[in-house]
Order: sequence, then C-alpha cells, then structure tokens
Amino acid sequence: PALGIDVVSIFPDYLSPLDLSLIGKAREDGLLDVRVHDLRDFTHDRHRTVDDTPYGGGAGMVMKVQPWAEALDHVLAQGNPYAAKPRLIVPGPGGQPFTQALARELAQEPWLAFACGRYEGIDERVYEHAREELGLEVSVVSLGDYVLNGGEVAVLAMVEAIGRLVPGVIGNAESLVEESHEDGLLEYPIYTKPSTWAGRPVPPVLLSGNHAAIAAWRHEQRLARTAARRPDLLHASHAPGAEGGPEVE
Ligand code: SAM
Repeated sequence: PALGIDVVSIFPDYLSPLDLSLIGKAREDGLLDVRVHDLRDFTHDRHRTVDDTPYGGGAGMVMKVQPWAEALDHVLAQGNPYAAKPRLIVPGPGGQPFTQALARELAQEPWLAFACGRYEGIDERVYEHAREELGLEVSVVSLGDYVLNGGEVAVLAMVEAIGRLVPGVIGNAESLVEESHEDGLLEYPIYTKPSTWAGRPVPPVLLSGNHAAIAAWRHEQRLARTAARRPDLLHASHAPGAEGGPEVE
C-alpha cells in the first residue's frame, strides 16, 4: 500500500521538487500519494489573510487558527484508503530532532500530514485543536539547530528521507542498509573507475579481491571517520562495545 502524504503551505509551489527524481517516480508508481494544499484556499477575506499580530506583543506575525483548522478539516475529509486519520507533523526549530530513526518510524505510518509554518509560527491552539478535537497525534519536528523561514524546506527533506524508506521506492534495498546513520557509524570512503586518476590511486585493498580484508578496511574507516567528524555518535548509545553498537576489533 502507498504512503499518503498531505502538505499544507502558503507556498504550494515550494513543494514542486516532489515531482522530480526518485520521489516523483514513486508518486507515478503509486507508492507515494502526495497532495499539496494552499492554506490561503481556507481564508474567506479579500486579502486571503493567514497571519495577524501576536498577543502579548513582540516582533513578527503569527499564523491564525481559523485557516489552519479548516485546512485540517479538509485534509481529514478527503480521507485516505489506508488509515482513518493522518499523523500530523509540524516542522519547527523547537521540535524533536529529525533523525534516521524517526524517518524509519514515519515510513511505517500509512498517512502523514505536514503543516508548514511561516512568520513566527502557528497559533498554539491549532496544535491543541488537532490533538483534542481532531484526535490526531501531533509531532513537532526540527530539521536541525538553525532557523529557516518556513517549514517547506524541512518537509522536502523529511519527505525525501521518509519516502526512500518506503518499500519499492529504492530499487536496491541493500543500498539502504549500508548507509550513514543506519547503525550509528558514518559511511566508509567510496571510489569508482579509474583506479588511478591524476596520480591518485584508489586504496589498493579495494582492488585485492579479498572480501574479508575489504570489509575490515571499511569498518576501520567508518570508525575513524565517525571519531573524527561525529564523536558524539560514538559516545551516544552506539559507543563501540555498547549493546547494539558497532564492534571494534
Ligand atoms: N519563532 C519560531 C521559533 O523561534 O521557534 C521560528 C519561526 S521560523 C522563522 C518559521 C517557520 O519555519 C517555523 O514555523 C517552521 O515551520 C519553520 N522552521 C524554521 N526552522 C526550522 C527547523 N530547524 N526545522 C523545521 N522547521 C523549521
């Protein structure tokens, strides 16, 4: 069955890259069922207003409850053949970090709805309404510790990371297993032909045909690279020797 994905944004065109490449192909193949909605279609004034000034003062504008509530009603009313309700993901710098583990979790869901904030974000009552009246599981998810102008770029990144984990989207499922962040280590260095370029040879072990030696070299490279670039990964739950962590020879 396909994964249903609804995205609500004031810039629906921002999501047009979802027509391209592997995600676009997965949509054509019916593996991802993506629907993009314009939040302004759920306004009723001449200016199609989605924002207003913040109560309590402060800089910037806040997205209004009413268009969001109607947009969510519309998404739910459309339905989805695989689930009664979507899980609602709201991108935000104050959310839980988006990780490969969360991408895996979300790829198991039948239906995801993404609400793209702009300005200073969305009136808090939208989250309360979604949880309490609509009965949705709502997760605020951050792409990283920096601030974007809107949720659209975060949704593009999340849909790409989630979509490629949906069975059938990537032809060779093997290629998913060996990647960075799948087992707590970064990937080893990779090379292709020619074996020597501008006087730079490929590491000789890779041409040796000795599969055990190649596997050992790659494992060492992964440990060294992770220690150099992302020591936090080694010191977290994946520390060498820790349960479920990578083995060190
Ligand atoms: N005032 C908000 C705060 O300090 O948390 C930041 C609002 S930001 C300018 C506007 C929108 O961009 C957010 O509502 C969210 O949709 C999106 N956004 C910004 N940074 C993000 C991040 N790191 N991850 C996910 N979404 C982000």
